Amino acid sequence: MNMEKKVYTHEEEMAICEAYRDKNNTVLDIIDKFGLSDHKHLRNILDKYDVPPRNAYAPRKKRTSLQTVQRKCPKCGKVIEQSGARFCWYCGADVRSKKMVAVEGLERCVIKNLELVTPAVRDEMAEAVRLAIRILKEE
Ligand SMILES: [Zn+2]
Repeated sequence: MNMEKKVYTHEEEMAICEAYRDKNNTVLDIIDKFGLSDHKHLRNILDKYDVPPRNAYAPRKKRTSLQTVQRKCPKCGKVIEQSGARFCWYCGADVRSKKMVAVEGLERCVIKNLELVTPAVRDEMAEAVRLAIRILKEE
């Protein structure tokens, strides 16, 4: 059987690159959707348009502590110097991580209001929430 690779128009190749850039599409989805021969065929087209491999966008760094992570403002792109900063010094954008928001929410809503719950559940609740906070802060 002749396994000749399908030839794509420029527009089709651009659509393939676009589909690849959208991380909601899995590589297999893209191969299937556009009738590509295999991963290598897809890679050839991506290379033609200088589309980097997906993992090149977000290199996995081994993090040792929160201080070593250089954060950037999602709005203006400036580096956040202070590790615990909540807002961008330059543009005022909220730069808290999702974890930080979660920790603050737990501290604000649960820890501060523990006296409102019955003593029977208070200790258990406090323990569960403190454990969650500790884990969130560790990661
Ligand atoms: Zn900013």
